[in-house]
Amino acid sequence: MSRQRISKIAIVGDGPAGTTLAALLAAAGRDVVVLGRGRPQGLIVGESLIPAVIPLLRRLGIEDEVREYAMYKPGATFVLRDGETISFSFDEWAGSLPGYAYNVPRERFDRTLGDAAERAGASVVSATARLSADPERSGGIRFDDATAELVHSTLGGAADLIVDATGRGRALARALSLGSMPGDRYDEALFAHCEGIPLVRDGNVHIDHLEHGWCWRIPLPGRVSVGIVMDNEWLAKFGDDATARYDACLHGDAFLRRLTGDARRVSDVMKYNNYQNTTPTGVGEGWALVGDAFGFIDPIFSSGLYLAMDGARALADAILAGGDQAALRAYEKRQLHQYQAWRNVVGYFYDGRLFDLIQLGRIENPNLIGRLMNPHVSKNISRMLTGESTDRTYTQWLLDVLINHALVGTGPSELAVR
Ligand SMILES: Cc1cc2nc3c(=O)[nH]c(=O)nc-3n(C[C@H](O)[C@H](O)[C@H](O)COP(=O)(O)OP(=O)(O)OC[C@H]3O[C@@H](n4cnc5c(N)ncnc54)[C@H](O)[C@@H]3O)c2cc1C
Repeated sequence: MSRQRISKIAIVGDGPAGTTLAALLAAAGRDVVVLGRGRPQGLIVGESLIPAVIPLLRRLGIEDEVREYAMYKPGATFVLRDGETISFSFDEWAGSLPGYAYNVPRERFDRTLGDAAERAGASVVSATARLSADPERSGGIRFDDATAELVHSTLGGAADLIVDATGRGRALARALSLGSMPGDRYDEALFAHCEGIPLVRDGNVHIDHLEHGWCWRIPLPGRVSVGIVMDNEWLAKFGDDATARYDACLHGDAFLRRLTGDARRVSDVMKYNNYQNTTPTGVGEGWALVGDAFGFIDPIFSSGLYLAMDGARALADAILAGGDQAALRAYEKRQLHQYQAWRNVVGYFYDGRLFDLIQLGRIENPNLIGRLMNPHVSKNISRMLTGESTDRTYTQWLLDVLINHALVGTGPSELAVR
C-alpha cells in the first residue's frame, strides 16, 4: 500500500456505508466518486437505528432532517415466549450517548445520506462498477475499462483507493476470492409494512420470541414494519413463495396472531436469507471494505446501520490520518473486533441465555449484593444494546462471566431461538 496521501477515492456502492464515507472524505477536501447502481426497488430492510448512530447523524449535519420523517425510538421491548414483556428505555441508562434513536423509512434515509455526500462535494454517479483482480499487482484490484474511464474523468485521475461498499453483494471480496466467515444461522427474513399492529410501547422496536424463530415490529410513521425470521425449512411449510409464506405465517402462527392482531399488510413482501457473513480481510493493496461488504452480523439488535456507518467513519479517519498501511490495518482490526463483540451478544440471544440472565436478575434480588449488582448488570446490558459499550473488554467480560457462572446448572434455555 502506498504511503502517499490518499487524495482520490472511488467508492463502489451507494448505500449508507458508501455515502457516509463519501460525505466525510469530501468534507475533508478529498476527491470522491460514489459509483452506485441505485438503491433496491421496493422496501429496504434495516429501519431501526440504535443510539450510537445519533452522533454520526449529527456529524453529518442531518439529524434535523431525519427527525422530520422518522419515528422517535425511546427504547426496545422484548416479548418472551411465555408472554413476559421486558422493555429497555435508552434514557434510563444513557451514558455518553443520547437516550434515544429513530426508526426510519429506509428509502428516505438513504436519500438523505446520498444528498449529504453530494452537498459535501462528492460525485454520486449512476453506474454498475465491474471489478477484477489486477494481474499487474499481486492482491490488487482494478476496474474494467468503462468503469476506470468514468472514475478517471470524474476524479481527474485514477483512484488512489478503491472502497467496496457493495453490501452483501461483496463485489471486491468475490473478485479477489477473499473468503467469508458465515455465521451459525441460516435464517430467512420476510418483511412488509402493516397497519393495525398493536404495540406494547409506542416508538420502541419490538422483538418477539416465536415458537419458531422471532419477529420484529418496528413502528414507523403511519405503519409498522413487521419482519418474520425463521429457519428456511420451517418457513417453507407456510407456502411456496415469500408472499404466501408471510401472509400464512402472520395469520396462521398462533404466537404471531396474538402479537399482531388484525394486521393488514400494505406493502409487498421482501425476502432476505443467509445474511450472517464477515469477510476475514478488510484492507489490501489499494483497496478497503466497508459496511456489509466487510461484515454483517445479524438483524436482532439493529446493529447493521451502526456498524456500516461507524465503520465508514473509522475508515474515513484512517484515510485522513495518512491512509498508510498501519492506519488501514488498525481500521481492519477495529472492525473485526466490533463484529466479534456483536456476534458474541447476538449468540447469547439465540441460545436464550441473555434473557435467562435478565430474568434471573428480576426474580432473584435476594440480598444486598444482588440489589447492588442488578442495576450494574442492567446498565451494562442496556449500554451494549445502545452500541455504547458493546466492544468494551469489561462489558464483554462481565457478560461472559455472568452467563457462564450465574446460569450454571439451569440446563438448556427455554428461550433458545428454535
Ligand atoms: C433481515 C435484515 C434486517 C435488518 N434490520 C436492520 C435494522 O433494523 N437496523 C439496522 O441498523 N440494520 C438492519 N439491517 C442491516 C442493514 O440493512 C445493513 O447493515 C445496511 O443496509 C448496510 O449498508 P451498506 O451500505 O453496507 O450496504 P447496502 O445498504 O446493501 O448498500 C449497497 C449498495 O451498493 C450497490 N451496489 C452493489 N454492487 C454494486 C456495483 N457493482 N456497482 C455499483 N453499486 C453497487 C447496491 O445497489 C446498494 O445500493 C438488516 C439486515 C437484514 C438482512
